[in-house]
Amino acid sequence: MSQPTIILGAGLIGVSTAYYLSSPSSSSSSQPGQNIHLIDPSPTLFTSASGFAAGFLSRSWFPAPLRALGELSFDLHTELAQKEGGREKWGWCKARSVSFVEDEDAEKERPEDWLMSDDWLAMGVSRAEAAKSELGWKKRSGPEWLRRARGREMRVLSGKVLTSYAGDPLRLSNFLLSECLSRGVHLHTSTHTLSVSCNSSGKIHGIRIRHANGTEADLPCSRLVITSGAWTPQVFTTLFPSSDVKLPITSLAGHSLLMRSSAWKRPQEGEETAAVFSTDPTGYFPEMFARVDGTIYLAGLNSSILPLPAAGKGKAQPHAESIDQLKATAEHLCGLSFASNEIEVVREALCFRPVTPKGIPIIARVPDARLGERARSGSVGGVFVAAEHGPWGISLSLGTGKVLSEMVEGRKVSADVRELGLQEREWKSKAKL
Ligand SMILES: Cc1cc2nc3c(=O)[nH]c(=O)nc-3n(C[C@H](O)[C@H](O)[C@H](O)COP(=O)(O)OP(=O)(O)OC[C@H]3O[C@@H](n4cnc5c(N)ncnc54)[C@H](O)[C@@H]3O)c2cc1C
Repeated sequence: MSQPTIILGAGLIGVSTAYYLSSPSSSSSSQPGQNIHLIDPSPTLFTSASGFAAGFLSRSWFPAPLRALGELSFDLHTELAQKEGGREKWGWCKARSVSFVEDEDAEKERPEDWLMSDDWLAMGVSRAEAAKSELGWKKRSGPEWLRRARGREMRVLSGKVLTSYAGDPLRLSNFLLSECLSRGVHLHTSTHTLSVSCNSSGKIHGIRIRHANGTEADLPCSRLVITSGAWTPQVFTTLFPSSDVKLPITSLAGHSLLMRSSAWKRPQEGEETAAVFSTDPTGYFPEMFARVDGTIYLAGLNSSILPLPAAGKGKAQPHAESIDQLKATAEHLCGLSFASNEIEVVREALCFRPVTPKGIPIIARVPDARLGERARSGSVGGVFVAAEHGPWGISLSLGTGKVLSEMVEGRKVSADVRELGLQEREWKSKAKL
């Protein structure tokens, strides 16, 4: 058996990678589960972005460098959900996208080209706007849980390549993790990564880890995969302090609410849910997603100044004023009140997306020469990074996991990801390339 592969970070990107790497059907060269280690400093998994995201999935709302991966990933979501009973297990359901406009004059003042900007998230716009230049909104009524009022207009997104689904990313993450564990993948929670260890010829042969009880150990590996979300640059710098690679990843915090109301009906089998992209009642861009269990998820309040908490501290504490603002939005849009118990909060959350200004993830093998340590060459070794999925990490998760598992094994990849960090220009460097 070859040396193990260690995956640092058990969010949805990490577990998707372990899932495809250990998948018996993926190829004759896929690794036995026992050869894969998932390591995470958190005592409880999925208390960051993968557990608290909305779960909206799109096939086509991506800029050109991400199109192939977006399509692959969407098709894998569909295949997995159909094979495994995704509706039952993680609430996978077709979603109708609705734009909700309150002030049409403000809408008209926006320049035409702002919608397809790479920087759309940094500008704080709704994700559905990214699709607008290819698709179109048609005036039609939206879901019945949105309050109708004078001056309000609902439009349904329509177009040639319109397919979107929604689901609960927490339940999807847990499903994939349990599949990995059933294949023998080792999971190490509350475990911190300290350094890489090298053999007598100076090649990486493992990592030094510290368990929650303070004991340290060397875990052998030949291949290392870093999928630590917004913490990825810290992890990389800790392990490769003399590398000249500087990963351009920062974080964008997002507050969210999951809510329930007896006024909201569960969609019947075969019925669509709704994804509502509001174009600004109160200065930001709230997004609401109805789930098959009858709950509604609300997010859209983002901040690039909230600091990323230390890794492994569990769930971040939401800010009361941000939660109040989301509640006010929910009341405004749905016409129900928390004070009168017409809506109740199921969960409040704050989590951190890994982002770059361009919003394009890195999915790549770090060039061996740039590590500052010596990785084993060829497909038996290598250090890989998959991070920076920004607002699309749930949608792109399965495609990323599949492509990354293929890269790790030195196989042909299922989607063209050459623009996602495989080119030297993607690596910020102090050294001359
Ligand atoms: C409010 C909100 C709504 C969203 N909605 C959607 C949506 O509808 N659709 C969509 O496609 N995307 C959505 N996203 C984006 C999506 O959630 C993220 O892109 C995705 O979850 C990133 O997954 P990840 O596995 O890279 O990171 P995370 O889920 O953050 O996981 C990273 C893991 O790395 C671990 N880690 C940290 N340090 C270390 C270390 N030293 N060693 C090992 N592990 C470490 C962490 O503990 C964590 O478990 C949303 C994001 C937010 C914030």
